[in-house]
Amino acid sequence: MNSTKSENFYECVDAMHKFAETYARQTNTFFSFDPSITSVVITGLASYKDKYGVPLCPCRNYHNEEAELELNYWICPCVSMRERKECHCKLFLQPEDSSASEYQEISLETIRKNL
Ligand code: SF4
Repeated sequence: MNSTKSENFYECVDAMHKFAETYARQTNTFFSFDPSITSVVITGLASYKDKYGVPLCPCRNYHNEEAELELNYWICPCVSMRERKECHCKLFLQPEDSSASEYQEISLETIRKNL
């Protein structure tokens, strides 16, 4: 584990872990069969939550992160996920997606291996 991360960052990882599992169940979506993808996305969301208090999508490049916060489009769950169940990060996959597993849970240990 990276010792330079703040205590708040680890709390954000826990929060985004719980959010991801709950939201997957609510939307009948599933995590990737590759747990490193799920782990990296949850960790990326946690990094933004640690930095700004809200989880910006970690799969995009922003010219101006503060402006993106104002727009409120790419705060997870983003508009494309909420409106069309499209998650570009492959965190929340439709059951028929060839990358989808049958799991809506991932252990904290698996996530922390990718920190
Ligand atoms: Fe969240 Fe949308 Fe990014 Fe998927 S694409 S991780 S739903 S913000």
